[in-house]
Amino acid sequence: MLCSSLDQLTDAVEVAAAIDRYFDLAAEKLGYRRDEPVEVWLDPEWSRHATTFERCIVLNPSGRRIEVVDWILAHELVHWHADGTPLQRHLPHVIYEGLAERVAVDLVPRWEDDRRSLYERLIGLARERGELSALIVRAGMDKYEWVSLPSDDGLYELYALGFTLVDRIGVDALRDAAERGPVTLGAVLEMAGVAADGTGL
Ligand SMILES: [Zn+2]
Repeated sequence: MLCSSLDQLTDAVEVAAAIDRYFDLAAEKLGYRRDEPVEVWLDPEWSRHATTFERCIVLNPSGRRIEVVDWILAHELVHWHADGTPLQRHLPHVIYEGLAERVAVDLVPRWEDDRRSLYERLIGLARERGELSALIVRAGMDKYEWVSLPSDDGLYELYALGFTLVDRIGVDALRDAAERGPVTLGAVLEMAGVAADGTGL
């Protein structure tokens, strides 16, 4: 654990406890495991809640973020174990993010109602505004576009779409598909029974 000041010690203890709590569970639910010890950097300037890189997880512990740290780390640990696997290499990035959210719901059940209602609301609002097909087009973005996306630029709608599609398909079926080779967004939509204009969502 890397901290930038002693004030972060309490946060560091919480983060370490959450890593212990979810590390094995995330691997079990995902079906892939990476045994290297997780290095976490606490960075109050980080622009997202957290980001998982190949060798470390960078987490912003400021403000409300530390209250949802178990949720954030459950999501990031899915990325940790999935790094380099067919799930990361073969799924559209937005679907890979939806997968991390979907598995995190299993790991931290007390957040399930909160996440489901948020994502249902966001999909409902996009439908009302006639924006579902535009949202689906945006979900074709790659990892590099995703990491540079500001959090107020439809980021949560994309999580909502990814989560909803993964929830329909199921983690096991999605993993089987990814193990067979690259999976296009069109194939994901078909597996979920959703048309390109959002019908069926
Ligand atoms: Zn993520």
